[in-house]
Amino acid sequence: MCQKWFKIYTCGCASPTYVQFCRPAVAADVVCQLLPEDVQPRKSFFPCYDCIRAQHRAEKAAEAAAAMKAAEEAFKKAEEEKKHKETERIRREAEERARVEREEEERKAKARKEEEEKIRREGRPWEVSGGNKKGKGRRDGHGGRHGNGHGGGSSAWGSNWRS
Ligand SMILES: [Zn+2]
Ligand SMILES: [Zn+2]
Repeated sequence: MCQKWFKIYTCGCASPTYVQFCRPAVAADVVCQLLPEDVQPRKSFFPCYDCIRAQHRAEKAAEAAAAMKAAEEAFKKAEEEKKHKETERIRREAEERARVEREEEERKAKARKEEEEKIRREGRPWEVSGGNKKGKGRRDGHGGRHGNGHGGGSSAWGSNWRS
């Protein structure tokens, strides 16, 4: 007697119904007409092809999604790195500018201090000579034969040394 059967796959799907031919049917090349109604399920140890394909597609899709996400994250990381480097560069440049300005300030302050030191040691030659020139103009009015420039200079220096 021929038998109908179908498979239950591990995915839970059922296969279509098949007919298992009995020996006499195979020999006679016919199918028994009276097939029993109780169809016996057989256990399969595999998922059905549809589920295999679906799972394969899902895995491929997951792989593609993972690859895309990884690429996205790498891009984001590179962007952040770039931004960080730019921020660092700006900070360094600002520091460098501040350093240059500070050094300039220090240099100026030092020069000013040295100038003051010099003034304390030597007096203020421009003020003294300026005053002398005015005074000299009046005082040297009578002694014109020595010449204004030379005589004035030496007298300014002279008063400078004395004070
Ligand atoms: Zn049969
Ligand atoms: Zn299935």
